[in-house]
Amino acid sequence: MSTIPDYINPRTGNTWPVSTPRWCAEDDGGYVNLIPGEGLVPSDINQNVTSLWRYAKAIRLPKMAYSSMGEGWTPLVPSAWQGREILMKMDFLMPSGSYKDRGVAVMLNYLKQTCVTEILEDSSGNAGSSVATYGAFLGFDSQIFVPANAPEAKQKQMAVLGADVIAVAGTRDDVAAAAYAETGTRFYAGHNLQPYFLEGTKTLAFEIWEQCGFEVPDAIVTPMGQGGNVIGCHIGFNELLNAGTIDRIPRIYGIQAENAAPYYAAWASGSNVPVDIDAKPTIADGIASSKPVRLAEVLAAVRETEGALIAVSEEEICDALQSLAAGGFFVEPTTAAGAAGLSRLIVDGSIGSDDRVVLVLTGSGLKAVDNIVKALRV
Ligand SMILES: *Cc1c(COP(=O)(O)O)cnc(C)c1O
Repeated sequence: MSTIPDYINPRTGNTWPVSTPRWCAEDDGGYVNLIPGEGLVPSDINQNVTSLWRYAKAIRLPKMAYSSMGEGWTPLVPSAWQGREILMKMDFLMPSGSYKDRGVAVMLNYLKQTCVTEILEDSSGNAGSSVATYGAFLGFDSQIFVPANAPEAKQKQMAVLGADVIAVAGTRDDVAAAAYAETGTRFYAGHNLQPYFLEGTKTLAFEIWEQCGFEVPDAIVTPMGQGGNVIGCHIGFNELLNAGTIDRIPRIYGIQAENAAPYYAAWASGSNVPVDIDAKPTIADGIASSKPVRLAEVLAAVRETEGALIAVSEEEICDALQSLAAGGFFVEPTTAAGAAGLSRLIVDGSIGSDDRVVLVLTGSGLKAVDNIVKALRV
């Protein structure tokens, strides 16, 4: 079994044991990370387990026990995009219908081990649905703050699963502020801050590596709000690299919606500090972020792997949504933003005809039927 990590404040280097759950650093109040893990070799994989827990050896819970609904180990489906062969990572095929289950399943198993029972989350939709799902499965009392204009199907999904859903009028930042105000009463299990969420999403890298025949592809393209998959892939592939299991890391591309692209703004300005943006509504509601959380980690992921951040327009998102559906992929508009970014990368030559490319399909269309109908004027 791998060593139990410590929490680390990446800004000050201070560490704390994970035996006591925390969501922020005691010294400066910012987010914490986990110290790097030791990674995997193929013989560490438990081939009898058909979920992300086949990599349990590298998932650093305090106790080596977990409950699973079978999240992860999603198919990697060969398909075509703009005449190129690409691989579709079917992460919308998880219990709550989005990739968030990859991170939330690990995060809530961790919190259960540290004896937390009442949790608080804020979400634009899918993370809340995921916390409601695993909260019910693992026996948590869950309170979830959502924007009042979050898709109705997602709010209903949370409520049916027994979560206490609190709709807040205003921006996504107002929702986060309302949740922060409650952090004295319940444990704040905000997925964007809790590093055990990333301990789960790093298994995306492990799966892609294993499903590519224990090789790495050339590029990974994913829609990005706060970087759960971008940072997760960077962590996972780095662990494999440091373990000597692989000898290079794929280029990581994070795709934002032009209307709400704070990470792209910082990237485009060449800066390491947040750039103020004027966020507008987007059909890609799952990536409608206005303020970056882990800017340093996202920039490191794209810079070190020679990937990029891209911002796509509403029109490009709708076109990509239509093309995905035409190929049989019924995903939500947020997911289509990633495909729109892939189109750009192909057109501008960043992705060449020989590149092996994985596109991460993050969320199911079944929860966004109304928005899809509107976007495609069906
Ligand atoms: C949350 C979400 C994203 C973006 O994930 P981040 O971790 O915020 O980058 C992408 N697609 C879907 C469907 C989501 O729910």
